[in-house]
Amino acid sequence: MSHAVENLQDVKANIAAAEKAADRAPGAVTLVAVSKTFEADQVRPVIEAGQRVFGENRVQEAQGKWPALKEAFPDIELRLIGPLQSNKAADAVALFDVIESVDREKIARALAAEIKKQGKAPRLYVQVNTGLEEQKAGIDPRQTVTFVKHCREEYGLAIEGLMCIPPFDEHPGPHFALLRKLAAEAGVEKCSMGMSGDYEKAVAFGATSVRVGSAIFGAR
Ligand SMILES: *Cc1c(COP(=O)(O)O)cnc(C)c1O
Repeated sequence: MSHAVENLQDVKANIAAAEKAADRAPGAVTLVAVSKTFEADQVRPVIEAGQRVFGENRVQEAQGKWPALKEAFPDIELRLIGPLQSNKAADAVALFDVIESVDREKIARALAAEIKKQGKAPRLYVQVNTGLEEQKAGIDPRQTVTFVKHCREEYGLAIEGLMCIPPFDEHPGPHFALLRKLAAEAGVEKCSMGMSGDYEKAVAFGATSVRVGSAIFGAR
């Protein structure tokens, strides 16, 4: 068995245990396996072991490896978890089933135009900069509820959830709690939060999906 497949089984078991410990239903949390920087041959065994939801952070890199894999495994769900430029909106809508990085008006507008043009509707998340970090993408938490409403009313976008990446040098708990609270206020159901170092904690704080890369595929 490949290391990645062994790691996948461990991560799935840890998620199941965290769901149980938090009194959440089995399967309440979707595992997004983050395959960025890994080649198709390294990803394939993980697909063959049953994993179906994958995350990539660059449109161009994903275009190189996923069309063929998606053709071979049509039930794969591919998520964009990295920053999106508006000139890549067409490619992103064409390739991804879920886009988790809607983080400004310009992107909302570009996605709405492409969704109309392509007749294809990826599920969408608004990224929230819970730590108000200058170098990080995402909507200011204080503007999140208004922005979600604006995406819906102005652009007709069906925002399904919120996503955050807490500052790496802080305890993630307060950031996870803030995202959950904002989701309730904005009336969205899903929270994408938690990575290799803190996904079990994110499950305890109500994540509906966790994005796990290195704990499955190894160091990048
Ligand atoms: C790379 C990445 C991950 C996965 O990070 P790991 O620490 O390797 O699990 C999760 N979310 C985003 C947005 C990423 O870019």
